[in-house]
Amino acid sequence: MDHYEVTVIGAGLAGITAARRLIKQGRTNILLADKGKSVGGRLATRRVANGKADHGAQFFTVRTEELEEEVRDWLSKGWIKEWFGDHYPRYTAIDGMNGLAKHLAGDIQTSLHTKVVKMIETDGGYRLYSEDGSEWQSDKVLMTMPVPQIVELLKNSPVNVSAPTLKQLKSIVFEPTYVGIYHFQQSTNLPENGHVDQNLPEGVERIVDHKKKGISDDTIVSVYMTGDWSRKYYGEDYVMSLIKEKVESYFDWDVMESEQLKRWRYAQARDVLEESCIDVLGDGRLVVAGDAFLRPNDEAGRTRFESAYLSGRDAAAYLSW
Ligand SMILES: Cc1cc2nc3c(=O)[nH]c(=O)nc-3n(C[C@H](O)[C@H](O)[C@H](O)COP(=O)(O)OP(=O)(O)OC[C@H]3O[C@@H](n4cnc5c(N)ncnc54)[C@H](O)[C@@H]3O)c2cc1C
Repeated sequence: MDHYEVTVIGAGLAGITAARRLIKQGRTNILLADKGKSVGGRLATRRVANGKADHGAQFFTVRTEELEEEVRDWLSKGWIKEWFGDHYPRYTAIDGMNGLAKHLAGDIQTSLHTKVVKMIETDGGYRLYSEDGSEWQSDKVLMTMPVPQIVELLKNSPVNVSAPTLKQLKSIVFEPTYVGIYHFQQSTNLPENGHVDQNLPEGVERIVDHKKKGISDDTIVSVYMTGDWSRKYYGEDYVMSLIKEKVESYFDWDVMESEQLKRWRYAQARDVLEESCIDVLGDGRLVVAGDAFLRPNDEAGRTRFESAYLSGRDAAAYLSW
């Protein structure tokens, strides 16, 4: 049976960052496991015709020295660029946010299409079971999925999590988000940088033209709905037409080529935890992290790219031998 020093569950930014840091600290036997077909999680980019759209995170801001240092490196490697904004510049990936995740994951040992469904405590750590029937052993486990998915995995595993810790995790509610994705034959009238987040109709959080953003050859536009709106209409089959109605006046629909809908069940946490990671059993072998785990002094106070990065980084330091 395969055996790893650490299994990181979730290859989003938190998991990738943790795995990178563990490797930097000299660990060689790390597995990054994700249920998806690609690394990146909510750093997601979709191909549409001859273009693409970021349908998860659009950009990120930087408030800490740790991320600032990385940003200098990513800029020098040509992986990211400054998109807009003065006080806190908005950085975005040159080739789509998922491309940045792929760069960061590099050659970390990764197992995709691997949904971890159960963990059993053993003498030397944990035995992990995936949905497709594979199992392996790991000395330590770091879970970086959205908190409700962490709670689900803990519930399916005979792991003795204390009631207060479970209660703390269960209190974190994630909002869904709907994203409408549209391919137009012609350019839009959106501003030059392709980004609008002001004076939008109620329920619309942001509109992005990815050609103007600089990552797409074709005009691909995404419309991000707010958490409240997405929760209200979650699962309804007429969501697509409702979104179009909302932004009707922004586009010439006669030149629309195609439309798609992306539904995120867990997009952004409504509440956050004021710890950048939690040691579930207190023995340093089962740790949880991710974007909802914020440093106590976090300036922004909300889940985002940077909170995922810092949480992954802090979890790796915590797991160090
Ligand atoms: C629509 C949208 C727009 C956003 N816009 C912005 C923005 O503009 N700026 C910003 O800073 N942030 C934004 N965010 C938030 C940002 O994307 C996230 O905070 C960050 O990417 C979260 O990273 P993470 O690693 O914590 O989680 P995720 O990226 O969610 O990674 C978790 C991973 O765990 C995997 N997983 C789940 N369960 C299992 C399991 N049982 N077994 C194996 N794998 C599993 C998932 O497949 C996923 O890849 C946005 C998010 C969304 C959805």
